Amino acid sequence: MKNEMTLIFDAVSENEAFARNAVAAFCVTLDPTVDQINDIKTAVSEAVTNCIVHAYASTQSQNDRVTINTKIDGESVHIVVSDTGVGIADIEKAMQPFYTTGADRERSGMGFTVMESFMDDLKVENNSPTGTIVSMTKTIRGADWKKKKP
Ligand code: ATP
Ligand code: MG
Repeated sequence: MKNEMTLIFDAVSENEAFARNAVAAFCVTLDPTVDQINDIKTAVSEAVTNCIVHAYASTQSQNDRVTINTKIDGESVHIVVSDTGVGIADIEKAMQPFYTTGADRERSGMGFTVMESFMDDLKVENNSPTGTIVSMTKTIRGADWKKKKP
Protein backbone atom coordinates (compact mmCIF):
# COMPACT_ATOMS: atom_id res chain seq x y z
CA MET A 1 0.00 0.00 0.00
CA LYS A 2 1.17 3.53 -0.81
CA ASN A 3 -0.21 6.72 0.72
CA GLU A 4 1.20 10.23 1.14
CA MET A 5 0.35 13.50 2.83
CA THR A 6 2.01 16.86 3.44
CA LEU A 7 1.37 19.28 6.28
CA ILE A 8 2.58 22.89 6.24
CA PHE A 9 2.06 24.95 9.40
CA ASP A 10 3.35 27.95 11.32
CA ALA A 11 6.45 27.30 13.43
CA VAL A 12 4.80 27.96 16.78
CA SER A 13 4.76 25.67 19.80
CA GLU A 14 0.93 25.54 19.72
CA ASN A 15 1.21 23.40 16.56
CA GLU A 16 3.60 20.77 17.97
CA ALA A 17 0.86 18.53 19.44
CA PHE A 18 -1.25 18.93 16.30
CA ALA A 19 1.67 17.85 14.12
CA ARG A 20 2.62 14.76 16.11
CA ASN A 21 -1.00 13.62 16.42
CA ALA A 22 -1.74 14.22 12.72
CA VAL A 23 1.24 12.10 11.65
CA ALA A 24 0.30 9.39 14.15
CA ALA A 25 -3.30 9.34 12.89
CA PHE A 26 -2.07 9.03 9.29
CA CYS A 27 0.01 5.97 10.26
CA VAL A 28 -2.93 4.11 11.80
CA THR A 29 -3.67 2.29 8.52
CA LEU A 30 -0.42 0.37 9.10
CA ASP A 31 -1.94 -1.19 12.23
CA PRO A 32 0.87 -0.09 14.54
CA THR A 33 1.17 -1.06 18.20
CA VAL A 34 0.71 1.64 20.84
CA ASP A 35 4.48 1.60 21.42
CA GLN A 36 5.19 2.15 17.74
CA ILE A 37 2.72 5.05 17.55
CA ASN A 38 4.31 6.59 20.65
CA ASP A 39 7.78 6.24 19.07
CA ILE A 40 6.58 8.10 15.96
CA LYS A 41 4.89 10.81 18.03
CA THR A 42 8.04 11.35 20.11
CA ALA A 43 10.32 11.54 17.06
CA VAL A 44 8.02 13.97 15.23
CA SER A 45 7.70 16.06 18.36
CA GLU A 46 11.51 16.33 18.70
CA ALA A 47 11.98 17.28 15.04
CA VAL A 48 9.18 19.86 15.03
CA THR A 49 10.33 21.35 18.34
CA ASN A 50 13.80 21.80 16.84
CA CYS A 51 12.33 23.81 13.97
CA ILE A 52 10.46 26.02 16.41
CA VAL A 53 13.19 26.57 19.00
CA HIS A 54 16.35 26.52 16.83
CA ALA A 55 15.58 27.12 13.14
CA TYR A 56 13.60 30.30 13.53
CA ALA A 57 14.64 31.43 17.00
CA SER A 58 16.55 34.45 15.70
CA THR A 59 14.22 35.44 12.85
CA GLN A 60 10.66 35.18 14.26
CA SER A 61 9.06 36.18 10.97
CA GLN A 62 5.40 35.64 10.12
CA ASN A 63 6.50 33.34 7.28
CA ASP A 64 8.25 30.77 9.51
CA ARG A 65 6.81 27.42 8.43
CA VAL A 66 7.43 23.75 9.15
CA THR A 67 6.69 21.16 6.45
CA ILE A 68 6.07 17.49 7.21
CA ASN A 69 5.82 15.03 4.36
CA THR A 70 4.70 11.54 5.37
CA LYS A 71 4.76 8.58 3.01
CA ILE A 72 3.53 5.10 3.70
CA ASP A 73 5.13 2.52 1.48
CA GLY A 74 4.30 -1.09 2.28
CA GLU A 75 5.21 -1.63 5.94
CA SER A 76 7.39 1.49 6.18
CA VAL A 77 6.60 5.05 7.04
CA HIS A 78 8.94 7.82 5.83
CA ILE A 79 8.63 11.16 7.61
CA VAL A 80 10.46 14.26 6.39
CA VAL A 81 10.40 17.34 8.62
CA SER A 82 11.88 20.44 7.01
CA ASP A 83 12.32 24.12 7.73
CA THR A 84 13.85 27.09 5.93
CA GLY A 85 15.51 28.56 9.02
CA VAL A 86 19.13 29.13 9.98
CA GLY A 87 20.35 25.60 9.21
CA ILE A 88 23.01 23.59 11.06
CA ALA A 89 26.68 24.42 10.45
CA ASP A 90 28.08 21.08 11.64
CA ILE A 91 25.44 18.36 11.37
CA GLU A 92 27.67 15.54 12.64
CA LYS A 93 28.43 17.53 15.79
CA ALA A 94 24.78 18.54 16.28
CA MET A 95 23.73 14.88 16.20
CA GLN A 96 26.04 13.88 19.05
CA PRO A 97 24.31 13.11 22.36
CA PHE A 98 24.23 16.11 24.74
CA TYR A 99 25.40 18.59 22.08
CA THR A 100 23.18 21.65 22.30
CA THR A 101 23.27 25.34 21.47
CA GLY A 102 20.30 25.82 23.77
CA ALA A 103 21.77 25.08 27.19
CA ASP A 104 20.69 28.55 28.32
CA ARG A 105 17.10 27.56 27.42
CA GLU A 106 17.28 24.26 29.33
CA ARG A 107 17.77 22.13 26.21
CA SER A 108 19.61 18.88 26.88
CA GLY A 109 20.95 18.04 23.42
CA MET A 110 19.13 14.70 23.23
CA GLY A 111 16.59 15.37 20.45
CA PHE A 112 18.50 13.72 17.59
CA THR A 113 19.54 10.84 19.84
CA VAL A 114 15.88 10.24 20.71
CA MET A 115 14.86 10.36 17.01
CA GLU A 116 17.64 7.92 16.17
CA SER A 117 16.69 5.42 18.84
CA PHE A 118 12.90 5.56 18.29
CA MET A 119 13.04 5.33 14.48
CA ASP A 120 14.85 2.76 12.27
CA ASP A 121 16.68 5.35 10.22
CA LEU A 122 17.53 9.05 10.62
CA LYS A 123 19.16 11.38 8.11
CA VAL A 124 19.84 15.09 8.65
CA GLU A 125 20.73 17.35 5.70
CA ASN A 126 20.91 21.01 4.83
CA ASN A 127 17.92 22.47 3.02
CA SER A 128 18.51 24.76 0.06
CA PRO A 129 19.05 27.70 0.18
CA THR A 130 18.71 27.61 3.99
CA GLY A 131 17.29 25.37 6.66
CA THR A 132 17.31 21.74 7.69
CA ILE A 133 15.75 18.50 6.42
CA VAL A 134 15.25 15.64 8.88
CA SER A 135 14.24 12.32 7.26
CA MET A 136 13.13 9.40 9.40
CA THR A 137 11.91 5.90 8.56
CA LYS A 138 10.19 3.30 10.65
CA THR A 139 8.97 -0.15 9.71
CA ILE A 140 5.60 -0.90 11.24
CA ARG A 141 4.63 -4.44 11.81
CA GLY A 142 1.35 -4.42 13.65
CA ALA A 143 -0.22 -6.81 16.11
CA ASP A 144 -1.62 -8.99 13.29
CA TRP A 145 1.84 -9.54 11.81
CA LYS A 146 3.20 -10.47 15.27
CA LYS A 147 0.44 -13.03 15.77
CA LYS A 148 1.24 -14.63 12.41
CA LYS A 149 4.97 -14.82 13.17
CA PRO A 150 6.10 -18.48 13.53
P1 ATP B 1 16.68 18.82 23.29
O1 ATP B 1 16.17 18.31 21.96
O2 ATP B 1 17.20 17.70 24.15
O3 ATP B 1 15.72 19.72 23.97
P2 ATP B 1 18.48 20.23 21.56
O4 ATP B 1 17.30 20.63 20.72
O5 ATP B 1 19.53 21.25 21.74
O6 ATP B 1 17.98 19.73 22.98
P3 ATP B 1 18.94 18.23 19.54
O7 ATP B 1 17.50 18.18 19.19
O8 ATP B 1 19.70 16.95 19.56
O9 ATP B 1 19.16 18.91 20.97
O10 ATP B 1 19.66 19.25 18.54
C1 ATP B 1 21.05 19.50 18.70
C2 ATP B 1 21.41 20.87 18.16
O11 ATP B 1 21.23 20.90 16.73
C3 ATP B 1 20.55 22.02 18.67
O12 ATP B 1 21.00 22.51 19.92
C4 ATP B 1 20.70 23.05 17.55
O13 ATP B 1 21.94 23.76 17.66
C5 ATP B 1 20.81 22.19 16.31
N1 ATP B 1 19.51 22.02 15.60
C6 ATP B 1 18.69 20.95 15.66
N2 ATP B 1 17.64 21.09 14.84
C7 ATP B 1 17.80 22.28 14.21
C8 ATP B 1 17.06 23.00 13.21
N3 ATP B 1 15.93 22.51 12.70
N4 ATP B 1 17.55 24.21 12.80
C9 ATP B 1 18.70 24.70 13.33
N5 ATP B 1 19.44 24.07 14.26
C10 ATP B 1 19.00 22.88 14.70
MG1 MG C 1 15.87 19.25 20.16
